[in-house]
Amino acid sequence: MNNQNPIFIPGPTNIPDRLRNAMHIQTLDHRAADFAETLAPVLEGCKRVFGTQSGEVITFPASGTGGWEAAICNTLSPGDQVLIARYGMFSHRWIDLCQRHGLEVKIIECSWGSGAPAAQFAEILAADKTHQIKALLVTHNETATGVVSNIKAVREAMDSCAHPALLMVDCVSSLASMPFAMDDWGVDIAVSGSQKGFMLTTGMAILGVSQKAIAAMQSATLARTFFDFTDMLAANRSGGYPYTPPLQLIYGLRESLNMLFEEGLENVYARHHHLAQGVREAVKAWGFELCAHSSDLYSDTVSAIYVPEGFDSNALTDRAYNRYSVSFGGGLGEMNTKAFRIGHLGSLTEVMVLAGIASIEMAMVDLNYPIELGQGVSATQRHFCNKT
Ligand SMILES: *Cc1c(COP(=O)(O)O)cnc(C)c1O
Repeated sequence: MNNQNPIFIPGPTNIPDRLRNAMHIQTLDHRAADFAETLAPVLEGCKRVFGTQSGEVITFPASGTGGWEAAICNTLSPGDQVLIARYGMFSHRWIDLCQRHGLEVKIIECSWGSGAPAAQFAEILAADKTHQIKALLVTHNETATGVVSNIKAVREAMDSCAHPALLMVDCVSSLASMPFAMDDWGVDIAVSGSQKGFMLTTGMAILGVSQKAIAAMQSATLARTFFDFTDMLAANRSGGYPYTPPLQLIYGLRESLNMLFEEGLENVYARHHHLAQGVREAVKAWGFELCAHSSDLYSDTVSAIYVPEGFDSNALTDRAYNRYSVSFGGGLGEMNTKAFRIGHLGSLTEVMVLAGIASIEMAMVDLNYPIELGQGVSATQRHFCNKT
């Protein structure tokens, strides 16, 4: 299908023309001296987005999942205990990855739609007097449920018992769209990727790594070669990569950072909040429920929405795609058939959001949902032109 409709899956996101053009380059020599001049400011710019001055930024040719793997294998050893709460498909997949690496994963089962359970973390960490738990793994923005967790509260839970575990945070679907403060929150490894808030094609894992995490490499014995932080840091310092870099993505990231800083990070976050609120107004007007249990957990990058009893959310997203050529996210895992997701992150305007709300609404009416045409759209319009 050849169309210019925006996409409403929660990543990969719409790629602005400016970034497509920036990536549209002939092969350049990555061993030439001027490659260093391209790479260094890109890494510095990413530090600003992560909110770190003391940490390092490390990029790999990989998707976000590769970033998870890099975080684990650089800092941990087989049999190490890690603590993680499962409250959606992405925290679930991170658990699976840890188990396959032979880590001993202590899992807190939470209902989907809840966020990181800081109080439970505090209890478990306080009871771990001999510090067997080496890392706490938290998904900042659970893309399956549209839930954003309070990482500051998690840090406070760790500090309340002075637990020395590393704090690793998946911020793939939140970075560059919602506030993130790596240094202030004491995050040791923050994992992100090129294809969500950075509005680029998939293919680069982008990590913020603290000095404490780098020090942990000394004793960490999980096998690593491609994802070795030390190799990458050494190569970056001499202006290159330990292997062939994803050049087009590095050029794209340079321009993406320009766009983010031109708009201003605070304005980027405010825009995401405003657009997300517009989507939530439509959900309210339809009379549907968000998966997120309470408003403090509402994600500004993705909304997971339950369809009414008796309807199949896959039929809805299929209808939107097949009839109107607009993609929405399906329900993942236990939410399959019960919920659909609207991604509202990256390169997005009020007009694009309205197009998305209008198209999913047409698909609902086609399938005899108990709503009227315009019900959600007008609520979003009222929010956008301040007539609520
Ligand atoms: C998209 C995403 C990932 C990364 O997935 P990849 O497909 O490997 O890029 C990881 N965590 C979350 C929360 C995500 O939304």
